[in-house]
Amino acid sequence: MVSLAIWSFAALTALGSGGAEPAASSLLDSPARHVRTTDHALRALIRDGYTHSPTFAALMRHLEQSDLYVYVEDVARLPGALEGRLLVLAPAHGYRYVRIQIARRGAPNDAIATLAHELQHATEVADAPNVVDTESLIALYRRIGIDRGSNEYDTREAQETGKKVLKELAA
Ligand SMILES: [Zn+2]
Repeated sequence: MVSLAIWSFAALTALGSGGAEPAASSLLDSPARHVRTTDHALRALIRDGYTHSPTFAALMRHLEQSDLYVYVEDVARLPGALEGRLLVLAPAHGYRYVRIQIARRGAPNDAIATLAHELQHATEVADAPNVVDTESLIALYRRIGIDRGSNEYDTREAQETGKKVLKELAA
């Protein structure tokens, strides 16, 4: 089970000045890319997802064209049975930021599907320009999400995205 937890963190170090939209071909490698990680294994999984799953690639393109930056990090464990979650960070310099935490378990394709699930949540936030803090994030998910209690929400779209990506990877 993957859920979305509502936490807030202090803003990360601000990125360099915005600059022009990066070309689609650079969304994996450009210093300006919107989905980023410092973890080499996660970076490889993101590349695999982008290369082998059209749904994953579409999520990446969607985020690349948004005002949202997505930091993906690997964590040893998450509360309960969570495999991934999305946290909202404080906006800075006209951009919004979220952090995706992945507790990698099982096969690489399962981790890519978990990533896709959370990237779907990131697009939900990207498409809701009013989400800038925990309060507005909760308001969004009260509207579009399924309340799982303990400040955790999920969406059917995210659940279906994970399953769809897993199928595409197996094809
Ligand atoms: Zn979810």
